Amino acid sequence: MELSFGVGNVKIYSFYKKKAVRALTNSKYNCHTSGLLKKLNLLKFHDICALCDLTFCHKRFNNALPQYFLDLLLLFRDDPHYYETRIAGQLRLPLIKHEFAKQSIKYRFIKTLNNMSMTYREKLETHSLDGFKKYVKNSTVASYSADCSFKNCYICINVHPTASS
Ligand SMILES: [Zn+2]
Repeated sequence: MELSFGVGNVKIYSFYKKKAVRALTNSKYNCHTSGLLKKLNLLKFHDICALCDLTFCHKRFNNALPQYFLDLLLLFRDDPHYYETRIAGQLRLPLIKHEFAKQSIKYRFIKTLNNMSMTYREKLETHSLDGFKKYVKNSTVASYSADCSFKNCYICINVHPTASS
């Protein structure tokens, strides 16, 4: 999904998703959305994009992608230059000349795989695709904070005027 989105588009979609969540819950126009998303069991827009990247990695790991991608995206176990390309347990990112190339499938795949937490990485082999997606979604939503962490937050003070005193 995110593979086709530019950075600017992600900000726009994120803005509209927040707006929709506030409208759904009949909340104030500027209220924090993390708590609302947690209550509704919904992902933030950039987390939906991250989930798509992780899903892509799961499919590659389990050879569930077309042959073109299997040949393009080598894993540790089937890389013929295993020792050359492996740096401290990570795949080497391809050298790029332009920032734009960071949006390429190969670059994003390797970056996602290298940055993936050990917990998720273990689930690549043990969980089905649906089980993996459900696990990632639930753990991500669970990490959202329902309470505001800003000291003297302008928005929260105006929603609960007595809470600040
Ligand atoms: Zn706040």
